[in-house]
Amino acid sequence: MISSALLALVRCPDCRRPLDDTLGELACPSCGRHYEKSGRDYLDLRPTASFEETTKYLDELVHTDGRYRTVSPPLLMAGIRNDMLRSFLPIGPGDRVIDLGCGSGRMLVWNHGPNVHLVGVDVSPYFAAEAGERIDLIVGDLRRLPLDDGAFTKAYSLDVLEHLSRGDLERMLCEANRVLAPGGRFFVYSHVRKNSTLALGLRAINALARGLERIGLLDLSHDRLRKSDHRNPLVDIDDLHRVTATAGFQISRIRYYTPLVGGFVENILMRIAEQLMARRAMRRSTTDGDSSEGPSSGPGARRTVRADAKRWIADRGVVYAGLRGLTWLMKLDIALFGRIKSGPFFALLVKDGSGGSSGSSGVSRASRARETDLMS
Ligand SMILES: [Zn+2]
Repeated sequence: MISSALLALVRCPDCRRPLDDTLGELACPSCGRHYEKSGRDYLDLRPTASFEETTKYLDELVHTDGRYRTVSPPLLMAGIRNDMLRSFLPIGPGDRVIDLGCGSGRMLVWNHGPNVHLVGVDVSPYFAAEAGERIDLIVGDLRRLPLDDGAFTKAYSLDVLEHLSRGDLERMLCEANRVLAPGGRFFVYSHVRKNSTLALGLRAINALARGLERIGLLDLSHDRLRKSDHRNPLVDIDDLHRVTATAGFQISRIRYYTPLVGGFVENILMRIAEQLMARRAMRRSTTDGDSSEGPSSGPGARRTVRADAKRWIADRGVVYAGLRGLTWLMKLDIALFGRIKSGPFFALLVKDGSGGSSGSSGVSRASRARETDLMS
């Protein structure tokens, strides 16, 4: 949606001036650019200057199955991420929160509450229907946010940083810092390149998944597509401290995530279940004599399976209860390994009281030493 509260916060992405709102259209009084508003459930505020790097998420391929349109409850990895968000960044009345790289906007839907203003920004407009109806949405560039300075009390960004180049990561963090009020909090989930030895277990799980794929027990093509876009700009946790401090943040809390249970559940168990169900759907449609557009084709069958699974979850029956149980089991990864420094991490960044990105590295270093004790 496009609320009046959103219109008060948005700025021209090119010249950062407030926009004039007249006759169903927004216009920049400085550069004269117009932005369509009527009949839409999001604002397109991408900057004119085209950045040469674009994410493959723009590619329709990832979104061909249309699964982003409906929002299911947070389960499995999504459930873990959402639980960590709520634990690190409780969202309450009076908060103004921005989801940087919101994707379908499902996390905004899950965390919507009374007297909270939520805004989602993403590079592509593949928003869920429910998000479009209930949440303020912007198509924009994270490296040049079309939003006022200090507009938000909280921000979060999950599964985004790893898709950026080093330069873009620095730009994105500075922008996140700019749109936060002093003392504002920013929750991130991403990973650094340096792993712990625990990650060998993950590699074993992935090798097993590839082996099972070779004998046709599961299909990883969608995961490969999703990960083909990773640029992994962060070297290690020290590097994370450096790059966030330069952007004007301090890390106040961090937990690591080595999903051994999670990897087994999501990459093996769920994929096998999906493949078995897809085969059954294909067999059924062949005997029914459906066309090749339907579930008798591989991708078609998986689409049918996903739609079925979403329906079962919506019914809140046995499937939902089972997945809830598995999600609960997956929390073991945080309980057991959360303090072992490894690649994937959940971190809470706090905007320096002094604000901005200018020369506070000395302060940051000192407070970093203090935070090392807090990180337990
Ligand atoms: Zn302008």
